Amino acid sequence: MTQNGIHHVTAIAGPARRNFDFYTRALGLRFVKKTVNFDDPGTYHFYYGDETGRPGSILTFFPWEHASPGQLGVGETFETAFRIPEGSIGYWAHRLLDKGVVHETPRRSFGETVLAFRDPDGMRLALVGVPGAEAEPGWSGGEVPVEHAIRGFHGVTLLLRDAGPTQAILTDVFGFAEDAREDAAIRLKAGDTAFGGLVDLRVGGGFPRGRQGAGSVHHVAFRAADDPTQEDMVRRLAENHRITTTEQRDRNYFRSVYFREPGGVLFEIATDVPGFAWDEPVASLGQALKLPAGLEAHRARIEEVLPALA
Ligand code: ZN
Repeated sequence: MTQNGIHHVTAIAGPARRNFDFYTRALGLRFVKKTVNFDDPGTYHFYYGDETGRPGSILTFFPWEHASPGQLGVGETFETAFRIPEGSIGYWAHRLLDKGVVHETPRRSFGETVLAFRDPDGMRLALVGVPGAEAEPGWSGGEVPVEHAIRGFHGVTLLLRDAGPTQAILTDVFGFAEDAREDAAIRLKAGDTAFGGLVDLRVGGGFPRGRQGAGSVHHVAFRAADDPTQEDMVRRLAENHRITTTEQRDRNYFRSVYFREPGGVLFEIATDVPGFAWDEPVASLGQALKLPAGLEAHRARIEEVLPALA
């Protein structure tokens, strides 16, 4: 069965250690992969996710020690939401306060309870109580008891001036369909994908254009099972939407193409293969610094300049 939906979300962060502590400790995600920014190997690229880093659970960061804060605006991701069991909202409201994280009063949105808060760089996050999510696997090796643990992404909310062209791409190329409307938002759903299956398009004409920086989502990646599926999506983008993607790039754990969608958000199409467990065992994911073959020769120098995490 074809699985559509979000593959990963990548954002920009400030200091690496603060980012690492927040996502592994406060939110209890698994640190799935520690590698470097292939385009700037003196800085990290962090991957957080569930036990094996399944597509739909992966949040990644480029931490820059001296990043200036971003300014949210149209053409950007407004909020990134995770799934938790419906009965865990109270646990999380207390946990966030315990960790010094200010959260908003839980709100109801599309019939669900949403607990919104920000990460240390101001990135907008939410935990959404989902009926039945307790039956889905959660990471049991973290600080959060498994019954309350995050179950991958719920979805992302994109802030757009005009939802139409973005909706057309999500439905025609990425397998989404309109599910519901509420206020200024349109909810799109990717079939019966268990997690990472929602994109909300929020029309916010009053917002100025954003400026990327710490706390900004850099791009949202959508799933393609393999290379032929990705090629098919690239062809549909060209034929039906006159959009050209980049050449395919090998990201070691998936293979990617990129394009800017008409609303201004940077989209990626990432393959489900090969995944995160091909270069280290699942049991020890995220412990060793992994480098692409071309950078191994520079390992000593790279390790020397990367900030310490503990
Ligand atoms: Zn990406």
